Amino acid sequence: MLIDGHGRKVSYLRVSVTERCNFRCQYCMPEKPFSWVPKENLLSFEDLFLFIKVAIDEGITKIRITGGEPLLRTDLDAFIMMINKHKSGLDLALTSNGYLLKEAAQKLKDAGLKRVNISLDSLKPNVAMQMAQKDVLPKVMAGIDEALRVGLKVKINMVPIKGINADEILDVLEYAKARGMSIRFIEYMENKFAKEKLQGLSAHEVQAIVAKKYHFKEIGREGSSPAQLFEFDDGYRFGIIDPHKHDFCEDCNRIRLTAEGMLIPCLYFDEAMSIKEAVQNGDVIGASEILKEVLRNKPEKNKWTEDDANETSNRAFYETGG
Ligand code: SAM
Ligand code: SF4
Repeated sequence: MLIDGHGRKVSYLRVSVTERCNFRCQYCMPEKPFSWVPKENLLSFEDLFLFIKVAIDEGITKIRITGGEPLLRTDLDAFIMMINKHKSGLDLALTSNGYLLKEAAQKLKDAGLKRVNISLDSLKPNVAMQMAQKDVLPKVMAGIDEALRVGLKVKINMVPIKGINADEILDVLEYAKARGMSIRFIEYMENKFAKEKLQGLSAHEVQAIVAKKYHFKEIGREGSSPAQLFEFDDGYRFGIIDPHKHDFCEDCNRIRLTAEGMLIPCLYFDEAMSIKEAVQNGDVIGASEILKEVLRNKPEKNKWTEDDANETSNRAFYETGG
């Protein structure tokens, strides 16, 4: 079992397989082109897998593949199959922008993937284009349809931003509900790569919008999930992720691995340690020691909380995988 320096049990590893992305979401990526990490700096799937095996042996039971856009990485289905074959019963999920999912969904399902979270910030083509800075909506929707068709469990992620997509909260919720998908509204997390002056909706503002049309009760959080859950009278549940609140971090159970092999204990802070050399040398003991050291130094909480209003993280979401 993995326990961090604050006594929290850590069982969830998020693995970013690439920082590259085919979108430029305003809340995530810089507007101007910038140079990507050279491909040769990325860990191979074999190296990532070596660390994943170490992490599973130490107590990781849930793994999410993310990015950048994970579907940009060739042979992702083979990587998922490797992990799935190594340990049955693992909670193995993917987060994707959905753009390439129509072509990939069946292969991912056949490889053993059960769940996918898809980012959908708008149902209006022009707003989706404004948010992602590219015409993305038709392909994202085709990706969602195909994921459902092949039998993947789909959850929608939406980041509501004032003046852009905040008026679509009910529309996106109803779109998800009608298709049997749950939805998480994620509060915008301020970071230095996002477009300046973006303002996200708070959890309270999202709740107030939904409450105008629906009656719901608060269920609380499920296990260590950061989402606050709410239930409609007909049993449908939606969630809000509120990183600006203290209790978000109280039972944080996650760590993050980047495509370059940096092991990151907290999404907010810069601190990280590299597992690259250890895995490239096949040094299982070394990798395990780095994992434990990172956990010993895992911060107690992020700095987006209310006490530290206007805090901005230096971490890039496209690098750490959200
Ligand atoms: N490209 C994939 C996608 O968009 O789903 C996976 C990576 S993305 C970094 C993972 C999640 O982080 C997405 O749901 C995205 O909306 C969310 N995200 C990115 N930047 C964010 C920010 N500044 N605040 C809140 N959520 C953010
Ligand atoms: Fe790409 Fe996802 Fe970031 Fe959007 S949120 S730019 S899709 S990594």
